[in-house]
Amino acid sequence: MSNLLHARLKNIIGLAVLLPLLGLPCPTTSAPNAIPHYEFAVRLNYSQHRLEAIQHVLVPNTFGVSVSDIVFNVPASHQPGVFTLHSVKVDDVSVDYQLRNTILRVQLPRPLSPAESIRLDLDFNVRVPELINPQSFAEANLAYTDDALLVGYWYPLLAPYRSGVGWLETPWYPIGDPFVSESADYTAIITATPGVTIVSGGELIRQRNVWRYHLPHARTFGFIASPFYRTLSLTSGEKTYAVSVLPRHAALAPIALQTLIKAERLFTGLYGTYPYRSLRVAEFSGPWSLEFAGFFVLGANEFDDYDGTQRNRLIRIMAHETSHQWWYGVAGNDQVREPWLDEGLARFNEVRYYEAFAPRDVAWWWQTVIGTPRPSDPLDSPSAAFTNHGDYLDSIYDQGARYLDTLRTQLGPETFNAFLRDLYRRSTFQLFTTEDFFEVLSAHTRLSQRTLKGRFFR
Ligand SMILES: [Zn+2]
Repeated sequence: MSNLLHARLKNIIGLAVLLPLLGLPCPTTSAPNAIPHYEFAVRLNYSQHRLEAIQHVLVPNTFGVSVSDIVFNVPASHQPGVFTLHSVKVDDVSVDYQLRNTILRVQLPRPLSPAESIRLDLDFNVRVPELINPQSFAEANLAYTDDALLVGYWYPLLAPYRSGVGWLETPWYPIGDPFVSESADYTAIITATPGVTIVSGGELIRQRNVWRYHLPHARTFGFIASPFYRTLSLTSGEKTYAVSVLPRHAALAPIALQTLIKAERLFTGLYGTYPYRSLRVAEFSGPWSLEFAGFFVLGANEFDDYDGTQRNRLIRIMAHETSHQWWYGVAGNDQVREPWLDEGLARFNEVRYYEAFAPRDVAWWWQTVIGTPRPSDPLDSPSAAFTNHGDYLDSIYDQGARYLDTLRTQLGPETFNAFLRDLYRRSTFQLFTTEDFFEVLSAHTRLSQRTLKGRFFR
């Protein structure tokens, strides 16, 4: 970044710099249940596919021990030339750091004691690559096409801290979603190229080409930009639902919006509250649909598949991605080491949508989407166990749906529903594990899980 550009950026982000200075002295004491707070000031150059960003992150030490460094996972740096870090500062003083592959380790000037917080300021830019490997949704997370620019997992993401283990480093992997993060509060001020729409999760205040999103208690902060979006929205009670589509699919926006609202109400009834006031969906021209907090993208292929019935990818994947707001978003999991927890549930939630709204299509779903079992690996395999997407989808998604359906038959629907509601409640804004899954399950049934575990798990 040139000095001149840097100075201009600093002016634009004056507010973002000021807010933490006013409200959040550094270091400071924090409540034991405090969560990290990120503030971004971003300048997006749409035609050049470039972001210049300042990231302030307030890290509360809730780990029970002092730490002398802070670790971030930086998925964007898995590819050379995409992520460039200019500086890391603590208390306005540059500090040493190491960025090796996707792991950023920042040395603190002094140890951070339990219950203290510290603010780090990172200055970086991101050159978003073109979507060239449509087989990988990990690649699609941060990519541009002729239609839109998707900005997912673009910033240094605070690594989860495990007591007795330390920072959880998550190397990038092309299969699955190579991202793990704790819930955090996010504020982003995005100054975009004029004429470009920015869609993300949370509360939005827009002034011309400056888009300010505030998203508390979120798994991550991603957004998508396009100059072509047509947006249809509806406010019902306290919630606003919005669908932004590319012009060639404008006629499908009402169907997409209706499906989104039905799915949100279904999963609220089944699992519990959706905690945000808005839920937004935006079309991406890539083939993949991808979940973020308070918002997700739906691939153009899903829209192309719409045939006027319920038996198509627009309906099915809308239900799938909406359900990730509950499983992935609010109740999070390690998507790399235990991807079945969110993807198995999301696949299963597709059929729950059909059970609720199109019962005559349930048999079609099982026959066409799931078909004959062909898992290559046990359900609780990490994404690194797979070398191709087909095996990953069969073993994690489809096998996950079959396991959950079998479990529902074993428990009966009432106990099964009470179990998942309880799991959701206990895991709200947390990361839950396979062990937690079975621990909560054991509180709801005395039936032995041995046979089912032996059939589906390692
Ligand atoms: Zn999914």
